[in-house]
Amino acid sequence: MDGKVDTVALTNWVREFGRLVAVEKERLTELDSAIGDADHGVNMDRGMTAVLAVLAGEAPATPADVLKRTGMTLVSKVGGASGPLYGTAFLRMAAAAGGADALDATGFAKVLRAGLDGVVTRGKAEAGDKTMYDALAPAVDALDEALAAGQPLGEALRTAVAAAERGRDATIPMVARKGRASYLGERSAGHQDPGATSVTLLLSAAATVLGEG
Ligand code: ADP
Ligand code: MG
Repeated sequence: MDGKVDTVALTNWVREFGRLVAVEKERLTELDSAIGDADHGVNMDRGMTAVLAVLAGEAPATPADVLKRTGMTLVSKVGGASGPLYGTAFLRMAAAAGGADALDATGFAKVLRAGLDGVVTRGKAEAGDKTMYDALAPAVDALDEALAAGQPLGEALRTAVAAAERGRDATIPMVARKGRASYLGERSAGHQDPGATSVTLLLSAAATVLGEG
């Protein structure tokens, strides 16, 4: 795919994320049952099912269009913390994509970083709070570094997935300081964060679909 991420590629990324969320729905909900209210898989699957229905309608015209429709649908269909957080992330990604017909590798990395910034603006999470930030932030940093070191997009995305997985696993011993899990205090330690788990799927989907270059 020569490192170009066009509207079709972006659509396929979002669709693959939806597929992975559906496959992992039970697992995500099980993780949320330990430190939350047992709805993360259900929430994300409801949202992504609605997103896929929207994207199956009139074909999106630009990468920004794909991302905007995804964000708006998540905001409107998903309650709880994750709807506004993922929704804001996708809406910020749409703004960063601007009017471009296709993104190059660096452009895609910028879009992903704008999504991370959206999560921070919305949820105020910092490193170590035991949230999706703890997987997404290292992944975005790793993607930037890998591209700066000259890796092609596919290889750089696989590097980013590895960073997300390490970040996700590192949430296990953390004590939650944001979101519902923070109500548990010390008892939140010893459990993997559901949002860090789902956002790792977002990276995996990117590596699978955009990772041929
Ligand atoms: P709720 O907690 O409202 O039931 P979900 O279960 O769908 O919503 O999502 C929970 C996930 O949301 C957590 O695992 C965590 O990763 C993420 N989260 C919660 N609060 C924040 C926040 N302030 N910033 C970033 N992520 C957060
Ligand atoms: Mg929940």
